[in-house]
Amino acid sequence: MLETLPADDADLATLVRPARRWVPKHVLVTRSAAELEHGQQIIARCTAAGVQDIRLLDGDRLTGLRGGTEREVYARAKQTLAVVVAPPSALRPQPIPPSADWRLDLAKGCPAHCQYCYLAGSLQGPPITRVYANLDDVLAPIPSLAGQGTVTTGDALRGGEGTTFELSCYTDPLGIESVTGSLSSAIARVGRGEYGDGVSLRFTTKFDDVAPLLDLPHDGRTRVRLSVNSAAVSRRFEGGTASVSARITALRDLARAGYPVGLTVAPVMPLPGWQDDYAALLREVAAALPADVDLTVELITHRFTEASRAVLLSWYPRTLLDLDDAGRSAKRSKFGGTKYVYPAPLMREMRTWFEREVDATLPQARVLYWT
Ligand code: SF4
Repeated sequence: MLETLPADDADLATLVRPARRWVPKHVLVTRSAAELEHGQQIIARCTAAGVQDIRLLDGDRLTGLRGGTEREVYARAKQTLAVVVAPPSALRPQPIPPSADWRLDLAKGCPAHCQYCYLAGSLQGPPITRVYANLDDVLAPIPSLAGQGTVTTGDALRGGEGTTFELSCYTDPLGIESVTGSLSSAIARVGRGEYGDGVSLRFTTKFDDVAPLLDLPHDGRTRVRLSVNSAAVSRRFEGGTASVSARITALRDLARAGYPVGLTVAPVMPLPGWQDDYAALLREVAAALPADVDLTVELITHRFTEASRAVLLSWYPRTLLDLDDAGRSAKRSKFGGTKYVYPAPLMREMRTWFEREVDATLPQARVLYWT
């Protein structure tokens, strides 16, 4: 990320340093959110974290997000947490293959600065983080969906996880946990069986502050995956996240605390020397984890759409990310648009390499999918 910034832009440079714990500079709380207990708990957490600018709004509309230049809007948005009530449309769980049966959103938006961010094509407006104060409503559909789903429910390989609910489609839930508490609450409630048996949560993260999760009554019903990448990809394209080594240490701590864990290797990019780089990553993971760990691996190659490319280039105009569709294959996405993926021969080469190397280096791991 720093490669995209003028050297004198101290504010933006500060934003993208490796972060263990994110604390927003600005917190906006809608009127409806302030009336809910979880909303009040988020305000208390932000106050305790030292946030000076906490504004309780008169109504439920978020305004004033767009003042200044595009860079100023971006920088301010990434430092802003909005505490809102999820609208009914955000409360209807959607299928989310190949990760999980269903998607649940604790929040929308992420304070980190990854230049390939997969959220770019799906979030509207300045990239603030909206956390949902009506957490009870977000989690309420879980029991009625138990036993329903087409990804893990009834699947020979993954059926042991029951009906699965993915928490990290639109946010990095651990990245905002210290000021929201939503993730710990969801893990503990599902772990205590408040939503019945046969259901489990899963999320992936690029942060490492897992201490609040270690003593929760998770009952093995949440699989935590750490999103990792080669040193070259992480160094060039990730900002404001924990370092990859810190994420691997966090993975070890979660495994020791009895969580089923996983690696999300994403986005896989065939940069020069990629085999050596990814082999080193897998070796570092193998050295950190106990031999009997319940470990899964998800492998996701880099892709983009016209919409996500436009947004990413507006956020990171000097990025070195390969967003040229000339070297890609166009595929129809499940949402009807076009996504650009690596050509089939390269995909085959990378897939074969990864499956062989994971098998050799992490023999206890199950590869769930390659995409
Ligand atoms: Fe996007 Fe994930 Fe990076 Fe956050 S951590 S900016 S969600 S890629």
